[in-house]
Amino acid sequence: MSQYDTPLDLVRSRPVEGPVACARPDRLTAAASWFQTNFPGEVLYAVKANPSHWVIDALYAAGIRWFDVASLPEVELVASRCPGATMAFMHPVKSRHAIRTAYFDHGVKIFVLDCEAELEKILAETGHAPDLTLVVRLAVSNDGATLPLAGKFGAGEDEAPDLIRKTRAHAAELGVSFHVGSQCMAPSAYRSAMMEASRLIAKAGVTVDIVDVGGGFPAIYPGMIPPPMSEYVAAIRSAFEDMMVLSNADLWCEPGRALIAEAVSVLTRVELVKGDAVYMNDGSYGCLFDIVHAKWPFPMRVHRRHGAPSEETALYKLYGPTCDSIDSMPGPYSLPSDLMEGDVLEFGMLGAYGTAMATRFNGFGDVETVTVADFPWASMYDPADASEAVAAGGEDGGRVVPFARGLRRRRHRLMKNRMMKRR
Ligand SMILES: *Cc1c(COP(=O)(O)O)cnc(C)c1O
Repeated sequence: MSQYDTPLDLVRSRPVEGPVACARPDRLTAAASWFQTNFPGEVLYAVKANPSHWVIDALYAAGIRWFDVASLPEVELVASRCPGATMAFMHPVKSRHAIRTAYFDHGVKIFVLDCEAELEKILAETGHAPDLTLVVRLAVSNDGATLPLAGKFGAGEDEAPDLIRKTRAHAAELGVSFHVGSQCMAPSAYRSAMMEASRLIAKAGVTVDIVDVGGGFPAIYPGMIPPPMSEYVAAIRSAFEDMMVLSNADLWCEPGRALIAEAVSVLTRVELVKGDAVYMNDGSYGCLFDIVHAKWPFPMRVHRRHGAPSEETALYKLYGPTCDSIDSMPGPYSLPSDLMEGDVLEFGMLGAYGTAMATRFNGFGDVETVTVADFPWASMYDPADASEAVAAGGEDGGRVVPFARGLRRRRHRLMKNRMMKRR
């Protein structure tokens, strides 16, 4: 991977042809250390958020040894790069071939299920193995989530107690899991889900060895500033104490977004400006899927090879490169009023569900990865550093667009309010 101090250094040193993912491995390490130090249990990385080799390798180097995998290629990826890793196959619907290969060829012993038919599949394909850890996925409310994941997976109240009981009979270790939904803005959502799980366990009347609180831990986006991560961990810790589980039960979490979101930004080049329409070389079929479909604002900067973009702004609509008309981001986005062909737009916080979502549609989808050393946006892990970097990011042609600055002010205000409340 080529290395640059900043994305602007890259833009100034050579033409930027395709989209470029700017990796910040130190942000990943900071997030991984934070979780390993502060979460009172196992931290499983949800591979689907970003399966890039450098991500898996950096997490492994940071000491992450547990991985939440959802398909055979993810199993094979982790097996090939992470000697001694523990994998949990957490997709509630697996092919028989995937179950068999994961168990017999890759030593995967942890499987999730949300119905009896899947339980039967797992038992049949592992030859009724005596060493299985079986995790029953429960359906819980996704009210606190920005991207709800309820409705597709999970055993509901009516079936769960019976399924927990039946699974107990075949499991060396039994767990329950849920997913509160992605980008969960309310720590209390974890407590509610854990209390719901506790009621279902009590109804089942069996012992449970593992409580897996899933993913959903948030990242910071403009106008979407979550409470500090420590509040999530505190809510989980106290709810765990109140659950009807053995006092020596294990606690797991499966963060995807929270570990990797901050660690990648994506550079996309402006190919044409036509009135207020900006055509870029990345879009909804590339790394910007979430920008189009989740419709929440990601932080942005503009880089120009020669000279600096104007301080004045205008409102633009953004379009991706494919011929599909849903490949568009109506925004409107506030960008320099002299935005022109060749300018490079940098979208921050795209480590999760960014490059991972890129398709080959229309011949696009190649993404180069480089490493950079700056971090201009607010961080869940060390806000002080991030604020200094935001201040520095305004110089030298790289311009932090207004809502990134607004974000910083708002975060400070929030932190001040919080500190005042404590006093
Ligand atoms: C996607 C997923 C995760 C990760 O979710 P984030 O919101 O990115 O933290 C964790 N567990 C399961 C089962 C998932 O499907």
